[in-house]
Amino acid sequence: MPEDVVITPDIKFVRELKKAGGDTLKKCFQCATCSVVCPISPDNKPFPRKEMFMAQWGMKDELAADPDIWLCHNCNDCSKYCPRGARPGDVLGAMRQKVIREKSVPAFMGNIVTDPKKTLVALAIPFVLFLAVLGLTGHLGIPSGDRIVYSKLFPIRYIEIIFMSAIALTGISYLISLSGFWIGISKQNRSYSRGFVSAFVETIIEVLTHKRFKKCGVNADRRTGHLLVFYAFLGLLITTIWVTYYYYVPKIDSPIPLTDPMKWLANLSALALIVGILLLIFNRTKDKGVNTKSSSFDWTFVVMILLLALTGILTEVIRLAGIASLAYPMYFTHLLFVFYTIVYFPYSKLAHMGYRTLAITYSRMTGRDIIL
Ligand code: SF4
Ligand code: SF4
Repeated sequence: MPEDVVITPDIKFVRELKKAGGDTLKKCFQCATCSVVCPISPDNKPFPRKEMFMAQWGMKDELAADPDIWLCHNCNDCSKYCPRGARPGDVLGAMRQKVIREKSVPAFMGNIVTDPKKTLVALAIPFVLFLAVLGLTGHLGIPSGDRIVYSKLFPIRYIEIIFMSAIALTGISYLISLSGFWIGISKQNRSYSRGFVSAFVETIIEVLTHKRFKKCGVNADRRTGHLLVFYAFLGLLITTIWVTYYYYVPKIDSPIPLTDPMKWLANLSALALIVGILLLIFNRTKDKGVNTKSSSFDWTFVVMILLLALTGILTEVIRLAGIASLAYPMYFTHLLFVFYTIVYFPYSKLAHMGYRTLAITYSRMTGRDIIL
């Protein structure tokens, strides 16, 4: 005889989910239409019906260890066909936000970055830090001289010390969060049909091609914007490594000429980022014939990335125009958004990259993956 399972509803968590964009979750009456129409859900233990059930009962720990909320690609086919207007696609989005916060190390960083109302606090941290460093090292104020050289305001070694230490700390935090997630999901099934490495490599190839997005019906054109943003970040990462190489090996000082291939890659990536984000914004606002709502968490992320790209482009354009009084403050502002994007990675929407990669890898290892 099966054992009785006792569920203690976590009402506070249900309220939080509703506030984070899952306000319709109580409308669900468990018909399972969503699990049938979801183009990404496997036949074996499909989603998102079971997640809707868990959300209604506030099963926070079970949701935190559920790989399926990360397999979801926000296609919204489920929301289109849900007969109750329960918007399961949005509810799953709210769950992902809550899991990112729950798994954040340290927890207060998750509370700050995942709460859109605390975005100014999140930006105030690098603002105060940068001002303190510039003040203590005598670099406050617009540097003199006709030529605009950003390292005169913020010497590269200071930037590297601040960013490298912050990235090292948050990188370790992210690894702790991801390991906790992996331990949680792997407790559910220990019979693997294949090993981690081959499943992981296949997942990385899939991420590079965004193949799974092609399965979406309602939200199929989100793929282009998502792909552009993904490759823009990859390009900017390569650029950062390239600049560091220039600085330390051939000791080329900034500003690097526009004719340098590194600059081409940087500018192309910034352009791809702007186009990609604008496409994502357009996709969110256009009428897709389905009732969905973007959460303020999603909007905050999109706006932050747009500001990152715009301040980056303006930093270059104003420098080329030779307006020092605008160029240095713009560079300072751009660094705030760079800090927000890179250092807060484990607590922002970007954190989904690690969770989703592990969830897809796990679904492959357990033989639950769909044919792409
Ligand atoms: S979310 Fe909608 S489609 Fe899915 S089980 Fe609930 S009522 Fe049915
Ligand atoms: S949003 Fe898309 S991927 Fe997610 S559960 Fe609904 S149909 Fe499936």
